[in-house]
Amino acid sequence: MNEAAPEVAAQQVCLGPVRVLMGAEGGRYPDGNSLLVEGERETLVVDPGLGLIARVGTLPPVDRVLNSHCHEDHIAGNHLFPDVPWHLHALDLPGITSLDAMLAIYGLDEPIETAFRELLVSRFHYTPRDDARALHEGDEFDLGGVTLRVIHTPGHTRGHCCFAISWIDGGTPRRLLYLGDIDLASFGPYYGDAWSNLEDFERSIERVREIEADWYVTSHHIGILDERARYLERLERYQAKIGDRERRLLEFLREPHTLDEIAAHRFVYRKEDSVFFAEPVERRSMSQHIDRLLAAGDLRALDGDRYIAG
Ligand SMILES: [Zn+2]
Repeated sequence: MNEAAPEVAAQQVCLGPVRVLMGAEGGRYPDGNSLLVEGERETLVVDPGLGLIARVGTLPPVDRVLNSHCHEDHIAGNHLFPDVPWHLHALDLPGITSLDAMLAIYGLDEPIETAFRELLVSRFHYTPRDDARALHEGDEFDLGGVTLRVIHTPGHTRGHCCFAISWIDGGTPRRLLYLGDIDLASFGPYYGDAWSNLEDFERSIERVREIEADWYVTSHHIGILDERARYLERLERYQAKIGDRERRLLEFLREPHTLDEIAAHRFVYRKEDSVFFAEPVERRSMSQHIDRLLAAGDLRALDGDRYIAG
């Protein structure tokens, strides 16, 4: 345990049987917020992130690990629970079986892939496991007095899931919706990996909009929202980032440009963001916008791999 442990351990919020274990700097990447869900029979940990490492020894025994999806920051604390089952959606499950399979989720080219491969192990404690268990839409975990239901919300990754956690508090039904990386951050939705899909992400946003809960919890930045109006407002702003990127792309394509030039211009990250994998993320994110603008007739392909609006 390091010197920061007591301070880190103190950063938690209890909502009925759910403890939200806040990551460093409000769960800012590479850390994240994790959940501890304590029923009468079983205790689950959801998305154990880097912040869990400093809490070892302060937590009750855990019976299972659930990951909302197979991304480095959400599985960074899985290795702390080697003796209990790990659960991920069936579509993300391959990622936990080997480092090569994990890297396929991102689809990076060299030399970025080698750098990221090293980071997955050294920084995020990537630990393969060949007996992890598959989650499916509608699966329920009855922990004793508290139930967790799996809601498949693909887009960020193929197998991304949200979790609806329900219990009764003094006769009143309570529900907490854990949104994972539908994180409502001002950055907007992230759909820049090989296993991301923009249109699935949009459908997933529509789906979580319909879910009523007393608390909405994200894995980064926003943390806990306890008013539905604020949740809906955040979700609206978050979704609007998709339209903003598309509008800015159309504006840029008043003059013809190639995908290389589009990626270099940056529509997802800001120019000043020093992210070593920004180029492939820009390329993959914006090519999904290009595809649907082409299909809608709002964009034309020209010679020389260039595109123009109209
Ligand atoms: Zn993620």
